[in-house]
Amino acid sequence: MKPTLPVIIIGCGPAGAGASLFLSQAGIPHLILEKDRFPRDKICGDGCSGKTAFVLGKADPALLDEIFSDEAHFLPSFGVTFAAPNGKAIDIPFRSKNKQERPPGFTSRRMDFDHFLFSKIQGPQATVIQDATVTSLDRTPEGYAVTYRTGEGPETTVHCRLLIGADGDKGICRRKLLQGDAVSKTASVGLRGYYEGVTGMHPRNFIELHFLREILPGYFWIFPLPGGAANVGIGMDAVLVRKKKINLREVMLLAISENPNIRERFAHARPSGKIYGWGLPMGVGAVKVSGEHFLITGDAAALIDPFTGEGIGNALYSGMLAAEAAGKALQAQRFDDSFLQEHYGDVLFRRIGDELKLSYTMQKLVRYPWLFNLVVNKANKSPALRDTMTSMFADLDVRALLRRPSFYWKILTNK
Ligand SMILES: Cc1cc2nc3c(=O)[nH]c(=O)nc-3n(C[C@H](O)[C@H](O)[C@H](O)COP(=O)(O)OP(=O)(O)OC[C@H]3O[C@@H](n4cnc5c(N)ncnc54)[C@H](O)[C@@H]3O)c2cc1C
Repeated sequence: MKPTLPVIIIGCGPAGAGASLFLSQAGIPHLILEKDRFPRDKICGDGCSGKTAFVLGKADPALLDEIFSDEAHFLPSFGVTFAAPNGKAIDIPFRSKNKQERPPGFTSRRMDFDHFLFSKIQGPQATVIQDATVTSLDRTPEGYAVTYRTGEGPETTVHCRLLIGADGDKGICRRKLLQGDAVSKTASVGLRGYYEGVTGMHPRNFIELHFLREILPGYFWIFPLPGGAANVGIGMDAVLVRKKKINLREVMLLAISENPNIRERFAHARPSGKIYGWGLPMGVGAVKVSGEHFLITGDAAALIDPFTGEGIGNALYSGMLAAEAAGKALQAQRFDDSFLQEHYGDVLFRRIGDELKLSYTMQKLVRYPWLFNLVVNKANKSPALRDTMTSMFADLDVRALLRRPSFYWKILTNK
């Protein structure tokens, strides 16, 4: 008889690494199966928000000290620039909530960031097997039998009481365990390219979202990276891309070469490497993310913010909550659906459900270019409105203002 492990995590991106960090903190032995070998790339905008910094700080404040002292791999970022469809832009500084006066966010190539996380998870409680592609998941009386293959080698089966699915958008967990239940209907697609020599970046490394009319409610982005490089990309609702037969790559390259507000900045820029695409499973609010003997985290649970496209923070956050729920399940020896729902899904969506719903509403509002132009135009003239918008990133109640027609009425009537 093979031993039954307490926990197996499938996937070692931010969600899986986050779960591992907190399982180790709680002294819970676990196995992580990862199909790639680190350092490995993940197509992404490489922007990490305050939530990422919050979870890492909770795992170990020394992680943030390391990040912010490594200028070669991590670039502190202090805000976001929104450019409305009419080209007018507004700078919104992030409000830092941390007491140590650390930068509120940072950018880092996923090749580096995920490798950093990977390098922090190995320890007495965590065993990682790389190049291990999980090929099947089967229910057993004790939990799950997980079968994986390394390279061309034979298949191996390992057993666990609790499975944590952290294998991303196209992984096996989402397909097999959620069987489409939680699969978001608001998936987007994104393209990412790396560039050298882009000029005109904000002195405080603000990330930039350019809401181009032709791809609303999606956007074109320029995120500054360490070493003067930039992550440049475009993302849009997958249904609209298909319906309107939009060639996203063409739109992205056209924005770089022709858009009057963008092209000058690329006059001496050159791409480094190809442009790659990947899906963004957006969250819309509470959905089923657990079941008997399993918890699903990160992109596998479709937790990306539908307005900003950020998923790293929620991946880490859900990994942290999954580890906490795993501790409770192992202590109580309860792995049934209702126990895991109460201690994972319910907790997760109590904390991030409203945020996802609000962002979903904002994503819908962004479809109206005139409304977007109006808010940015007015915010440029009104320090009070700029201040409100700054607070929106940190304060959910302030963000909720955006759902009220009275907010726009006040802007229109200059009140
Ligand atoms: C174009 C684009 C731009 C984005 N920009 C941003 C941004 O700027 N900021 C932000 O916060 N978010 C961004 N996101 C979203 C972000 O990339 C994801 O939300 C985040 O990577 C989710 O982390 P995860 O750990 O859930 O999944 P992933 O990072 O996808 O990790 C899953 C891991 O599971 C492994 N795996 C998959 N299948 C198996 C298997 N069968 N067996 C074993 N292992 C397996 C994979 O190799 C991978 O390492 C962007 C996404 C895209 C596509």
